[in-house]
Amino acid sequence: MGRGSTVVAGAACMVAALVLGGCGASDEPAGTTAAAAAAVDRETVHQVSTLSALIDGLYQPATTVGAVKAHGDLGLGTFEALDGEMVVVDGRVYQVKSDGGVSEPADSAGSPYAAVTFFDTDVSFDVGPTDSYEALQKEIDAHLGGLNDICAVRIEGSFAYVRSRSVPRQSEPYTPLLEVTATQPEFEFRDVEGVLVGFWCPAWVGQIDPAGYHLHFLSADHSGGGHLLEVHVTQATVRLDDTPNLSLSLPMTPEFRQADLAGDYEKQMQAAEK
Ligand SMILES: [Zn+2]
Repeated sequence: MGRGSTVVAGAACMVAALVLGGCGASDEPAGTTAAAAAAVDRETVHQVSTLSALIDGLYQPATTVGAVKAHGDLGLGTFEALDGEMVVVDGRVYQVKSDGGVSEPADSAGSPYAAVTFFDTDVSFDVGPTDSYEALQKEIDAHLGGLNDICAVRIEGSFAYVRSRSVPRQSEPYTPLLEVTATQPEFEFRDVEGVLVGFWCPAWVGQIDPAGYHLHFLSADHSGGGHLLEVHVTQATVRLDDTPNLSLSLPMTPEFRQADLAGDYEKQMQAAEK
């Protein structure tokens, strides 16, 4: 199976069993209008692969940038060979490389792990100033719609301080993620305008995604960004999109199909996000 064929539409048999939340999507009669289908699709997080697979060093491409764009306009991920952090904002896919540089990769570029949704604002509120990522999370916590929903997050504004990281391109045989992040390049920004995008996930997501907040940063001038480690908000607007459906597409790579993913990933997943 070639690149792109493992994205949601191309893996119907797997995805059918893995669409969670429903909201009637799977109960729609044949002949559902395109408009209705599109409306349902905007309420779905489309994800390729799992964080546990990434932790195990499965950096082979499972989808493409073009397919990611087709399934959402906001989200995050990484690239083939763990070549930097993916930030998806306003339908554009940005690559923050380990040298801190930002570019827009071609639609043919591969990704081993990505999660996107079409973002619609359900809740909007202003925050700031806040003096830590933890304080920001507490403010957002108070606005989350439910304890067990997946919530897409977009925070745009000015930030007194941002610390982010990226990851350097790996060569095969791939090194597990925690060994890579042990020496991760980190970037600091002060008094910067920009946007944070990503997801809040409930604990039940288990090996699929980190529980809690997972956000990636992109500066307004597109000169920097990465996986968010710390942030002090000066003034920003938080927008939340409750997303009741999760469509998970599994990589049809030989490496994924043969990997032993039965381990206990909880501590590793927490460590991978720091
Ligand atoms: Zn990340």
